[in-house]
Amino acid sequence: MLKGKTALVTGSTSGIGLGIARRLASQGANIVLNGFGDAEGPKAEIAALGAKVGYHGADMSKSADIADMMKFAAAEFGRVDILVNNAGIQHVAKVEDFPPEKWDAIIAINLTSAFHTSRLAIPAMREANWGRIINVASTHGLVASAGKSAYVASKHGIVGFTKALALETATTGVTCNAICPGWVLTPLVQKQIDDRAAREGITVEKARHDLLAEKEPSLQFTTPEELGDLAVFFCSPAGNNVRGVAWNMDGGWAAQ
Ligand code: NAD
Repeated sequence: MLKGKTALVTGSTSGIGLGIARRLASQGANIVLNGFGDAEGPKAEIAALGAKVGYHGADMSKSADIADMMKFAAAEFGRVDILVNNAGIQHVAKVEDFPPEKWDAIIAINLTSAFHTSRLAIPAMREANWGRIINVASTHGLVASAGKSAYVASKHGIVGFTKALALETATTGVTCNAICPGWVLTPLVQKQIDDRAAREGITVEKARHDLLAEKEPSLQFTTPEELGDLAVFFCSPAGNNVRGVAWNMDGGWAAQ
């Protein structure tokens, strides 16, 4: 379905971004990976699905790096047809204890980076009259939790950005939507489970159960592959007029 299209997925060396890249590649899309850590493993995995794959190590907190990555993608692949703004970080602390540099980093990576990638991707999408911008927000883009002020602000921000961009492109073949996952068992969440186990003196298994039980009625993690399939849906012809939605996949979290 996506043969000949190129998808750039930020933060795709791990977790949800890698799951989305896998699903888009399995539909025939070429993939530009981004993120820190080992890129060779993810590159080989995506290439094995038959996709042409590139990698750029841009730091999403730096606008010059982002501009360089978008130039690289255009030079190597011609155009970015599908942009998945996924890179994100978390820090948990009360507002009065929140390190200001952590606040700045979370807003830069989780929110501002999507502005930069989008503003640079949109002109070619408009010219082709086809494009998909998919922002990985969070259930925290819809509801809040204590201790996560910067994350919640960034995710509510990206849901608002998604709606504004969807309106600006509403008469074109370019759509913009957000995916709002509940708990997904990735390194980002494993750290919160490990911290909770250490803080409360409980086993990692109990901390994992308690984390789910607190928020997610299904008591199940959503998988990166399930989120990838939602991204594939947004890219399908059935997604042509789906614009500005913030679609939660959260086991009932936001329904409460
Ligand atoms: P993860 O830690 O597994 O992956 C994050 C990715 O972002 C990695 O590839 C990492 O290298 C990259 N990254 C981090 N900082 C970066 C930077 N400055 N520049 C470039 N790349 C950077 O996390 P994840 O759980 O897969 O999270 C992915 C997205 O999903 C995030 O936006 C997160 O907020 C969101 N999300 C996650 C969950 C969850 O339960 N895991 C729930 C809701 C939303």
